[in-house]
Amino acid sequence: MNFDIAIVGGGIIGVTAGRWLAERGLKVCVVERGKLASGTSAANFSWVNASQKTTDAKYHHLNALGVRLYAELGDEFGYEALGLRQSGSITVAAGTTGIAALQGQAARLAALGYPHRLLDPAELQELEPHMAFAADTSGLLAPSDMILDAARFVGAMAARIRALGGEVVEDCPALELLSDDDGQVSGLKTSEGEIATARVLIAAGPDTPDVLAALTGFDGFATRFPVVRVPGLLVTTPPVSPGLVRHLLVRDTPDEFHVFPDFNGGLRLGSDDADARITEDSSVNEQRDAARLLLARMQALAPGFAGEACLDDCHIRIGVRAVPQDGISIAGPLPGAEGVFVIATHSGVTLAPALASLMAEVIADGVVPDMLKPFTLDRLPGFGG
Ligand SMILES: Cc1cc2nc3c(=O)[nH]c(=O)nc-3n(C[C@H](O)[C@H](O)[C@H](O)COP(=O)(O)OP(=O)(O)OC[C@H]3O[C@@H](n4cnc5c(N)ncnc54)[C@H](O)[C@@H]3O)c2cc1C
Repeated sequence: MNFDIAIVGGGIIGVTAGRWLAERGLKVCVVERGKLASGTSAANFSWVNASQKTTDAKYHHLNALGVRLYAELGDEFGYEALGLRQSGSITVAAGTTGIAALQGQAARLAALGYPHRLLDPAELQELEPHMAFAADTSGLLAPSDMILDAARFVGAMAARIRALGGEVVEDCPALELLSDDDGQVSGLKTSEGEIATARVLIAAGPDTPDVLAALTGFDGFATRFPVVRVPGLLVTTPPVSPGLVRHLLVRDTPDEFHVFPDFNGGLRLGSDDADARITEDSSVNEQRDAARLLLARMQALAPGFAGEACLDDCHIRIGVRAVPQDGISIAGPLPGAEGVFVIATHSGVTLAPALASLMAEVIADGVVPDMLKPFTLDRLPGFGG
């Protein structure tokens, strides 16, 4: 069958890009080797934000575009239908150093034009009444930040692709890129047959290097494509009393730790040091040990929470980030391969609509918009950089 574009990967990046391209009138086919949103899009912290991305202005603005486009999508499709919640986020800190860090972050957000408000201890306590904050704890509220049930969002975007005449096929691994004598892509071989198309977008998340190697037959992609896999631990508790935690909360000191009210009525917890304790192959016991740490921290912050006592009822998962070598996104044409495009990024929950809208211009119009230029692959060694 003929399509204008085939997309490899049914995670949030591939399916959102497919929706944007289908809205532009392209006939889209997304192929997913397993079930939709079963990769990293099923195991992440769900935080749609630009509030934490302040060191690189271009990367901040890309994330801020993602946040703005979610608000537009929420108005178009309905927030509930997308699994999108306007929760806002609050970063909390105590002590002179911690509060100075919050003020520094607020100054950077002001310079970047991202909505935020410093909260004094009384305001913070009013917004999160069940937390036992230390007396001098202050907060930084980012009201535009949201949380997203990525699986529900992917389902809604896939439905839209189908409604626009495209296809989204599960249990259909892509096997090989087909090209003509001039090296131009002519199709994609999958387990279910061949798709005739002159354009292929690879959106395979942390598997991007291996998928590129398998599809092109060039093993060098597996070893040299500049994306590394970084695992993280996610703990989802059973339901807690409603309103126990009201916003997405990040505590930087004394130990970094983050939590939000999850879609099941429980809490989802994570922290940088719990991530550092695990690998992709960590045993169940190792994962439970790291989860204990998170549950204990949560109980210290919210004495009404059951803590370790609910460990056996928690859902503990490891998600794997695709982190490009220089920490920012990769999105654009694959240099030297006519008709092949790649998106590989961390923060893909936030960035999916931004990268999808900008990549639609690259793929449909053949123009790399200025906003995307810092993120194309040709900046990196081995690809022209
Ligand atoms: C612990 C953790 C916390 C995170 N927290 C956040 C957060 O709070 N906010 C945020 O913005 N981001 C967060 N992220 C990052 C975010 O989850 C990812 O950037 C995003 O989900 C990536 O989506 P993706 O579509 O690129 O990848 P994936 O969801 O992994 O999708 C890729 C898909 O490609 C498929 N595939 C692979 N090979 C083939 C093939 N040969 N043929 C067909 N299909 C194939 C896979 O099965 C998979 O479904 C977090 C990640 C982790 C691990």
